[in-house]
Amino acid sequence: MTDSLPRPQSWSVNDSAALYGVPDWGSDYFSVNTAGQICVRARNSGEQVPLLNIVQGLEQRDHAMPVLLRIENILDQRISQINDGFKKAIERFSYKGEYRGVFPIKVNQQCHVIEEIAKFGRQYHHGFEAGSKAELIIAMSHLRDREACIICNGYKDSEFVQLGLHAVKLGMRCFFVVETPSEIDTIIEQSRNLNIEPMIGLRVKLSAKVEGHWYEDSGDRSLFGLSTVQLVEVIDKLKSNNMLHCLQLMHFHIGSQIPNIRNIRAGVQEACRYYVELSKEGAPLGYLDLGGGLAVDYTGACTNETHSRNYSLEEYCVDIIESVSEALDPFEIEHPSIITESGRATVAYSSVLLFNVLDVSHFRSQKLPEQLPEDSSEICHNIWLALQNFSEKNLQESCNDAVHYREEVRHMFRQGQVGVRELALVENIYLEILQRAKKLLPKLKRVPQELQNLNESLADIYYGNFSLFQSLPDSWAIEQVFPVMPIHRLDEQPLNPAVIADITCDSDGKIDHFANAEGEHKTLQLHDIRENEEYYMGVFLVGAYQETLGDLHNLFGDTNVVSVRLEQDGSYELVEEIHGDSIGDVLSYVEYNPKELYEQFRSHAEAAVKDGRISVAQRQTMIKAFRTSLEGYTYFEREE
Ligand SMILES: *Cc1c(COP(=O)(O)O)cnc(C)c1O
Repeated sequence: MTDSLPRPQSWSVNDSAALYGVPDWGSDYFSVNTAGQICVRARNSGEQVPLLNIVQGLEQRDHAMPVLLRIENILDQRISQINDGFKKAIERFSYKGEYRGVFPIKVNQQCHVIEEIAKFGRQYHHGFEAGSKAELIIAMSHLRDREACIICNGYKDSEFVQLGLHAVKLGMRCFFVVETPSEIDTIIEQSRNLNIEPMIGLRVKLSAKVEGHWYEDSGDRSLFGLSTVQLVEVIDKLKSNNMLHCLQLMHFHIGSQIPNIRNIRAGVQEACRYYVELSKEGAPLGYLDLGGGLAVDYTGACTNETHSRNYSLEEYCVDIIESVSEALDPFEIEHPSIITESGRATVAYSSVLLFNVLDVSHFRSQKLPEQLPEDSSEICHNIWLALQNFSEKNLQESCNDAVHYREEVRHMFRQGQVGVRELALVENIYLEILQRAKKLLPKLKRVPQELQNLNESLADIYYGNFSLFQSLPDSWAIEQVFPVMPIHRLDEQPLNPAVIADITCDSDGKIDHFANAEGEHKTLQLHDIRENEEYYMGVFLVGAYQETLGDLHNLFGDTNVVSVRLEQDGSYELVEEIHGDSIGDVLSYVEYNPKELYEQFRSHAEAAVKDGRISVAQRQTMIKAFRTSLEGYTYFEREE
């Protein structure tokens, strides 16, 4: 009988941390404190800061949810870790070249982020990778460090090439990476016109394939890079123009988020073969650029699955330096400086999307009557009986009955044989049976096939105050998994399996796949929300790629963005606050003129006054409200 005694309440904050996988994906930066709140820290600054404190501080300053929070010292820390990782590997293998990281601007183009990378990265000579004229302009104006590199990828027209040549003339290490044979003509021509020697790199197409989402970026059919045939063609062109000495860099990029270290090693080994051959051709080289690909462990599983990685930053650096030395030493080729273009791994950790939950749809039964109304149909009596007879033993049978009888009654409703109240009663009994069954599932040794989806089909829907399309575009576009969880109440056991819907009311606007170290899940455990108390959630590791890929679906605009710097004593400083788009802003993006809209509405209201349908005072109230809305936030705002 001891089995049926209620178990003592034994949920702890550690259980929450484990449930949501915080120690796995949180790296050094996120953890759960004894008060059940998720905390952030930048390793050097010691103290943990509860995100809830920051949220409350923001709300006091009128930054309504949703807010994209950037933690500046985490970004700094990442830059340090990548540079230190290579420095250690270089020392360990007595490697003769240097490491020169560049940040690919496309991964997060926001001014404040770029400024911080340029400023903090200077001590490491960290540079930028630019894929367009606009990005090159950003790089040229932010980089003051002559040791740092600017790597120009992407299609380059004459104007792009001229910009880059001016950068070279100013003393910047600005490389044109040739991606197609035709580009070399433009580069040769423009450098002659301006009389500036270009710094040239070649992007080679490797045959090594990578696992993960960016499989297509690698191998023969990858969109970018020179085939061997083209490579030879470009070298001959450089030779015949007496410009082989400008060929100083070899580049490859086999995709982003490469989960398997073996693919990285294979890529480096193949690239080194080309490096050796280019040297034999007489190119001076000196730089080997390995592109991006350093993955982020979004699930914390440490595996070679798409959203994870099976290696640490240290292993990544060691494997690269070791592979390059091993490949080049037999040929007595001087060790090149190593460039990597890590974007995701540099910025992902430093941003968190914070939002509040607006409402919850529970798939729970309402209170059932003591007994059925007298005029209830036979089927109604049948499902009622199934409920009365429900027990652990006949669990599956009861569920089957519930499904069957509900179908019958729905059919009768469509035929006009039962009314809406009886249908509602049957639906309610149905939910009660399934909920009871769901509670018993954890006790079963073997869950019958038909009941395996019970948690999903009864999952609560939590409505979050954010737009997936604006703030988490990869979650929608490429099914990217991000860690998501409540940021407080972690001392309480969350009992509701749930999915999260955004406020776009689009059926795609939802988060319904989750992952932790144990695997993928279709639901996330969440707490009951309380009246008059916000339930705050965070989506983590969103600093890479999410900000500018977002769109204006349903005209939800940019969220408020706040950058903080964590202090030693556990406080934080707001270093930048940007209000999100107003409704007027987003309307003007789709070519409306907010002033005109206001004028049109005003004249509607005035006409109504003239016709005697509203008073002047009512007119004033209406147009004031209209104006306030135009100036207001596009997201759900709580009444003051
Ligand atoms: C996108 C891109 C990167 C960034 O890759 P990450 O995996 O985010 O580090 C680097 N180099 C090139 C050429 C790219 O296109």
